[in-house]
Amino acid sequence: MTDNTNHAVVVGASVAGLLAAAAVSDHFDRVTILEREVLPPPGKARKAVPQGRHVHALLPGGLAAIEQLLPGFQAELVAGGAVRCDSMKEIRFVASGHEITRNAASATNVLASRPYIEGHIRRRLLALPNVTLVDGSSVQGLVPDSARVRMAGVQLSDQVLTCDLVVVATGRAGQLPAWLEALGYAPPPEEKLTVDIRYASRHFHIPDGYLGRDKLILIGAEPGRPRGMGLFAQEDGTWLLTLVGYGPEHKPPTGDAGYLEFLASVAPADVLAGVLAGEALDEVVTHAFPASRRRRYERLGRFPRGLVALGDAISSFNPVYGQGMSVAALQAVALRQALSSGADRLFQRYFKASRRIVDIAWELAIGSDLSLPEVEGERPILTRLTNAWTEQILKVAEHDPYVAEVFGSVTDLLAPPAVLMRPRFVWRVAAAGARPATARSTRSESRLESRRAFRRATANRTRPRCTTPNHPAAKAMNTPRGGGPSCGAKDLQRGSS
Ligand SMILES: Cc1cc2nc3c(=O)[nH]c(=O)nc-3n(C[C@H](O)[C@H](O)[C@H](O)COP(=O)(O)OP(=O)(O)OC[C@H]3O[C@@H](n4cnc5c(N)ncnc54)[C@H](O)[C@@H]3O)c2cc1C
Repeated sequence: MTDNTNHAVVVGASVAGLLAAAAVSDHFDRVTILEREVLPPPGKARKAVPQGRHVHALLPGGLAAIEQLLPGFQAELVAGGAVRCDSMKEIRFVASGHEITRNAASATNVLASRPYIEGHIRRRLLALPNVTLVDGSSVQGLVPDSARVRMAGVQLSDQVLTCDLVVVATGRAGQLPAWLEALGYAPPPEEKLTVDIRYASRHFHIPDGYLGRDKLILIGAEPGRPRGMGLFAQEDGTWLLTLVGYGPEHKPPTGDAGYLEFLASVAPADVLAGVLAGEALDEVVTHAFPASRRRRYERLGRFPRGLVALGDAISSFNPVYGQGMSVAALQAVALRQALSSGADRLFQRYFKASRRIVDIAWELAIGSDLSLPEVEGERPILTRLTNAWTEQILKVAEHDPYVAEVFGSVTDLLAPPAVLMRPRFVWRVAAAGARPATARSTRSESRLESRRAFRRATANRTRPRCTTPNHPAAKAMNTPRGGGPSCGAKDLQRGSS
C-alpha cells in the first residue's frame, strides 16, 4: 500500500473499533479499519465475537456517548425494531436481593441483540466518506519509525500499511502488550479479579400477559446465591434469556431440564411461569468468562507516539454489569476530545481520560463482585465500607425514588459515583437506615415471597401450559394437581430455595 499522511488505522471492527473510527474520522483525512475476520452482513452473529449470542445491555451513558459520535443512532435502532424502554418503569431490577422501586424518574434504554447493535454501528461507519473497512485482514504487529519513538504503520501478512495514528481495539485477547514488547517497550501492569462466570442463553417466545409492562428483567446474584438471570426483549419480538452462575458449582446447565431448574432457582414466579408457558426457539449456548481484567497503559512512562487503545483491549469487566460497550463508547468520545487538542502528548491526555472512565466501571464491577463471599479476593477496609454503604443504598432504593434515581444514574454510567456522597443523598440513605425496619421487602423477605409465589403458581389449577419440549417440570406444570409425576414442580421448588 502507498505512503499516506493524515491517515488513521483502527485495528478491530467490533463495537470499540467502529466507535473509535467514528471518533477519529473528524480528525483524519482517511481512516482504515482492519478486521481479521471475514465479516458477515451487518446484524448477523460473528464468530470472532462469540459473546454476541448472549444478552447485551447498552447502558444509558453508553447510548448517549454513541449518540454524540453518531447523531440519530438511537432513533435508527428503534426504527429498525429495537425496544425502547423506560429504565425504571419497564425494567425490573433486583440487585443483591433488593428490588429497586419503579417510581423513580429514569433514563431511556434501548434493547436489542448484540449483532443488531453492532450491525447498526457498522452501517453508519461505512456511510462515512473517509472511512474504509478491510475485513479478512489480520494485523501482525506495529511498525515504528526509525527512532522507534512513534508509529509509522502496521504490519499485515504481506505488507506494511503506513499511517500517523494506530488505534488498537483488538478485544480482551488482543496482542498489544506483546506488540509493545517486540518494539522494546514494557507491557502494561495488569489487575484482575477472578469471577469464573458462566453464561447460558436461549431465545424464547413468551406469550403476552405474563410479564406485564416489563421489557427487561434483571435478577442479580446475592450472597449465598451466586446466580442471576437476565431476560431481554429483542428487536424481532423474541426474548433472550441468559442464566449466569459464579464458580463451577453454579454453572448453568445446557439440557432442557437442568436449564429450567436453574431458572427456577433465581427467577421470580411470574417470569418462570412466562418461560414455561413459552416456547424455546433454539439450543442453549454458553460462554465462560474467567476474570475481570484491566491493563494500566496510563501507568507506562514510555509509550510510542501515535498509538492508543480502547475497549476490551484495555479493560474487560464481569459482563453481568453490562458495561463493556458503554465504556468503549465513552472512551471513543474521550479520544475525539483528546484529538481536538492536537497530537501533542495524545497518549498521556487520552489515557488519563480513559482511566477516569474505566475507574468508575471497574470500581462498580469489582465492588459488587467482592460483596459476594463466593468471590475470592482481598477486601481492604475501604471496599468493606463501600459495600456496606451500597447495601444500605440498595435497601433504601427499594422504596425511595430519589435514592433509586441517583444510584441508577451511577450504574447507568450517566453520573460519577461522587453523586452518592452528596449531602441530600447521604442524609436520605442514612436517615432511612436509622429508622426501625418497616414492612417493606428485605432480601430474605423478598426471596421468601418469591418462593411462595412460585409454589402458588405451581399449585394453581389455572397455571399456564408449558410448551417447552418434554421437560419434567413442564409436565408437572401442565398436569392437573395431584396427577403429576413425583419429580418436576417439587424439584423446582427445591431448586428455588
Ligand atoms: C458473555 C458476555 C456478555 C457481555 N455482555 C455485555 C453487555 O451486556 N453489555 C456490554 O456493554 N458489554 C457486554 N459485554 C462486553 C462486550 O461484548 C465488549 O465490551 C464489546 O464487544 C467491546 O469489545 P471490543 O470491541 O473492545 O472487543 P471485541 O468485541 O472482542 O472485538 C475485537 C475485534 O478485534 C478483532 N481483532 C483482534 N485481533 C485482531 C488483529 N490482530 N487484526 C485485526 N483484527 C483483530 C477481532 O476479530 C474482533 O472483531 C459482554 C461480554 C461477554 C463475554
